[in-house]
Amino acid sequence: MGLFDPRQLLKIENSVNMVTRRVDLRSDTVTKPTEAMRAAMAKAEVDDDVLGNDPTALCLETEMARILGKEAGLFVPSGTMGNLISVLVHCNVRGSEVILGDNSHIHIYENGGISTIGGVHPRTVKNNKDGTMDINLIEAAIRDPEFEICYPTTTLICLENSHANSGGRCLPVDYINKVGELANKHGLKLHIDGARIFNASVALGVPVHRLVQAADSVSACLSKGLGAPAGTVIVGSKSFIAKAKILRKTLGGGMRQVGVLCAAALVALQENVAKLEGDHKKAKVLAEGLNKIKGLKVDVTSVETNIVYCDILEGTNITAPKICMALEELGILVMPEGLSRIRIVFHHQISESDVQYTLSCIQHVVTGTPHENGDT
Ligand SMILES: *Cc1c(COP(=O)(O)O)cnc(C)c1O
Repeated sequence: MGLFDPRQLLKIENSVNMVTRRVDLRSDTVTKPTEAMRAAMAKAEVDDDVLGNDPTALCLETEMARILGKEAGLFVPSGTMGNLISVLVHCNVRGSEVILGDNSHIHIYENGGISTIGGVHPRTVKNNKDGTMDINLIEAAIRDPEFEICYPTTTLICLENSHANSGGRCLPVDYINKVGELANKHGLKLHIDGARIFNASVALGVPVHRLVQAADSVSACLSKGLGAPAGTVIVGSKSFIAKAKILRKTLGGGMRQVGVLCAAALVALQENVAKLEGDHKKAKVLAEGLNKIKGLKVDVTSVETNIVYCDILEGTNITAPKICMALEELGILVMPEGLSRIRIVFHHQISESDVQYTLSCIQHVVTGTPHENGDT
């Protein structure tokens, strides 16, 4: 081996940093495009999608509409834009009101865009631990048109499935259908933020089109569990998508040779939906292992998909941010949520041995027992 062999340098660097392995569990958005995706991107047929004729974008949109059982689809740069466009299409009159969960992604993590950009008023209903909102509370939040003069106009209900902030829990199809019936009864629309709708579908064992049957629109992310580098597709009726396309342009989301991204997303659909079940199993194994470590607590039964919330029990001498910092030195990346909770998210680039390594490192950091070495 020559002096400048890069593998040798890597070994030296590793021995200096004492890191031989990296397990990135910060989010399911951290996946790298696979070789198959890169190959598909390289040879993707493209054209100008703003002019409406990028063949790969059209193919992805048609395929997503088919899978989700809706008339048409539209590729947008992000889940945030997908939700914003969907809410704005349904609530096209200023002073419209949307009913949504107080712990929902749209309400908490999307810069209040529905209000600041869309002039839409949010009416929050308490999210239960399982991500649902009580149906009677939703119904009570619907404004009575008799008092129209002082009330915003209830126009839309939003659900989220799986529900991120409740730890990736799934809304069952019966529940969604009931909310759909309620929306119908009151002449409202139903939008589903389905950033992780494929995780919910796999976990519930319900085909994804059945899960969203009651919805007028769905936003489904391609760059979370499915592992594409970017993008979300929103689906709905043809007239919904026609209006959505105009709003996408208004918001600056019209992109040109976007087939390069859509090609990767098509590979993600073909190859990675089948891997979600494995992600969920690994999340469960980690959850069970963590729950056995003194000082930690995981509600294992609530781990339904790929997200694990691990609580640090009172009296444990270490905080969540400190645990995360110590883990980072061992090559394990996870996110603290406040002082006493860690959020761990699985994706298809985490192996079974990564799970065991992570468990042994967390045990080491929390209890001081020696950890497995990181050599793969
Ligand atoms: C990530 C996420 C979004 C937003 O997606 P971005 O692509 O990050 O904008 C919306 N809803 C939920 C539930 C999410 O988890």
